[in-house]
Amino acid sequence: MSVNRVRGKTILAVALIVTATFTPVPVSAQVSRSPVAPRREQLETAVREAYTKFKSDTSGKNADYIPYLAQVDSKLFGIAVVTADNQVFTLGDVDYSFSVQSISKVFTLALAMEELGPDKVFMRIGSEPTGRAFNSVPAVVDMPTHTGNPFVNAGAIATTSLISGKDADEKWNKILAFYGRVAGEKLVLIEDVYKSEAATNTGNKALAMLLAKYERIYADPFESVDIYTKQCSVGVNATQLARMGATLANNGVNPATGEQVIKREDIPYILATMTMAGLYDSSGYWAWHVGLPAKSGVGGGIVAVAPGKGAIAVFAPRLDEAGNSVKAQKVIEYVANKLDFNLYSPSSVGLK
Ligand code: GLN
Repeated sequence: MSVNRVRGKTILAVALIVTATFTPVPVSAQVSRSPVAPRREQLETAVREAYTKFKSDTSGKNADYIPYLAQVDSKLFGIAVVTADNQVFTLGDVDYSFSVQSISKVFTLALAMEELGPDKVFMRIGSEPTGRAFNSVPAVVDMPTHTGNPFVNAGAIATTSLISGKDADEKWNKILAFYGRVAGEKLVLIEDVYKSEAATNTGNKALAMLLAKYERIYADPFESVDIYTKQCSVGVNATQLARMGATLANNGVNPATGEQVIKREDIPYILATMTMAGLYDSSGYWAWHVGLPAKSGVGGGIVAVAPGKGAIAVFAPRLDEAGNSVKAQKVIEYVANKLDFNLYSPSSVGLK
């Protein structure tokens, strides 16, 4: 799919009356000080500049195939950075709880690896780009694994089906509790998003039935779609999402709580998958221009991870044609370039 990248528009300099907050590292939470996390001033400058530069950008449009998402205020815009040593910097609408949508796929993958180990997950799901939209039916037919990877809908529903539990409720509660530990605080389902998506998710049910035909789904297909729909409807705000990313940046240790939530050895698999498929069929563009593992959701969130350094989460509902938030991409690209975060750039590892 082509991506709508309207750039170069004159952006009016607007006087910003926004609240920026900076939380220094509480001594108790200095669980593992990252030697490479950016300094507070560098972060603050880059984030403020990006906010001002892109605030008035109105390109893209809200997702509308899930009716609830079409009504979300498309002007909402929040940026949060959490570093691996738990510095927090936020700007804009960072308390608004939006649905995590496909970003949930990252953390269900982490839980599946926790339960089964990475080799079994790789065998049962795979990790190859599909070159197609995230909800593609032909990709399921054509890909040798059928599942493709854990971040397209088919592979994600199959990943959810791997989570163990005596019934659907036990599986769902386990997933929700796990997300909360990654975020460092309890998360809850946005009931209205769930209802809206559950009433319209015939495409995902079709994908699950197709996977059943190929024996690539590992629990009841409709039960798995329902749990998957719930996980997509979990509410997060930008700060919580940045903390989830910072847990990935900090070797699986939540920088706020100090808990090792994700196994250290699973982190490279997760970040590799994010690099390869985190922005769906725009992942190649993203790797080229930004060079950071990231994951987007049609709720308007994107989180990008700078390993060892921290994570940036941006929420802005207007999406491009691939389903990625337009403003979030622009902000992260700007901040990542400014802070030399690109993983493939020699200067990101200190080589001048
Ligand atoms: N819940 C959405 C769906 O299944 C998630 C898609 C997304 O964020 N790309 O379509």
